[in-house]
Amino acid sequence: MKVILHLDMDSFFSAVEVRENPDLKGLPVIVGGEIRAKEKESTDIKEKRVRGVVSTCSYEAREYGIHSAMALSKAYELCPDAKLLPVNMALYKRVSREIMDILRMHADKIEQVSIDEAFLDISTRVNDWNEARDYALMVKKEVLKIEGLTCSVGVAPNKTIAKIASEFVKPDGLTVVEDGRVMDFLAPLDVSRIPGVGPKTAEMLKKRGIEKIRQLADCNVQMLVAKFGKYGSRLHTHANGIDESEVEEEWERKSLSRERTFAVDTKDVSVLNTCVDELSGEVYNAIKKEGFVFKTVAIKVKFEDFAVQTRAKTMGIAHSDLYTIKRIANDLMAKVTGKEGKKIRLVGVRVSHLTLMDDKQMRLV
Ligand SMILES: [Mg+2]
Repeated sequence: MKVILHLDMDSFFSAVEVRENPDLKGLPVIVGGEIRAKEKESTDIKEKRVRGVVSTCSYEAREYGIHSAMALSKAYELCPDAKLLPVNMALYKRVSREIMDILRMHADKIEQVSIDEAFLDISTRVNDWNEARDYALMVKKEVLKIEGLTCSVGVAPNKTIAKIASEFVKPDGLTVVEDGRVMDFLAPLDVSRIPGVGPKTAEMLKKRGIEKIRQLADCNVQMLVAKFGKYGSRLHTHANGIDESEVEEEWERKSLSRERTFAVDTKDVSVLNTCVDELSGEVYNAIKKEGFVFKTVAIKVKFEDFAVQTRAKTMGIAHSDLYTIKRIANDLMAKVTGKEGKKIRLVGVRVSHLTLMDDKQMRLV
């Protein structure tokens, strides 16, 4: 059984800003535009020379009719009291990396499709659609617990349906489309719900009397091919709930890990640190032998009650040294053990985002 999960953060940029500045909670918040240096202190949109467009806005702002890509001057007309914040891309990228680290722990394969969106292949992690629902809830909870941010999730037998499903209920939504119910789900939806169908395509389809996915699924594929070429036949396939494309990891091809089970469960910090150091050394020797550099270091902890916790950290650039593995693994370890009073039965250290060391990096080592 193939089970694909699509996760999309809810109004990502503005949600991150509100998290960083809780005073903004419940207010119409807009992220976007250009702000002149002099006016930087104030977040009152009225005092700003409003240029550029809305990048993201909070759900409170959406209630005024404000949406992404709208001119800020128009947004100001709709809601003069909105709080306007500049785009802090460095911050969103950092949070995005942390979120992808969490997701990576919960999937065999993950394909990041934008700063706040990813497909996860969870086929081997669940046995049926009820388990898939529970699994998705667990992932949502994990993201909320660690990042304090909500997301919307779709779970389905393929990527296209999973993506449509994640948009179906927002924010903080979860929509599961089981194997046998794909057409029941798709049929009544507007064709514009299909990823890639923009206003232009929707308009052209409408002229031919096709407004719902049901009509698109039933229409003559030759007509679509004549009108849209190859894209037309893909449209028809997707409307029929078929999508064979795989979740493809872009550049994380490999990971390497070592783990150890203790003879006696322990919470002795020095024992745990020694173990993390030794496992880091083993991982380091293995990647050195193969000539890999890494961007992500992760740990896994299994407690005496068999509960498992994982933590990961991804860096902006690739590293190749033992010190970095040890330092990050021990930091992550402290985060997990600090909160739990339970004894530990197993520890694992993993490096991922492996790439082959190039000549330039060779010289640095
Ligand atoms: Mg989003």
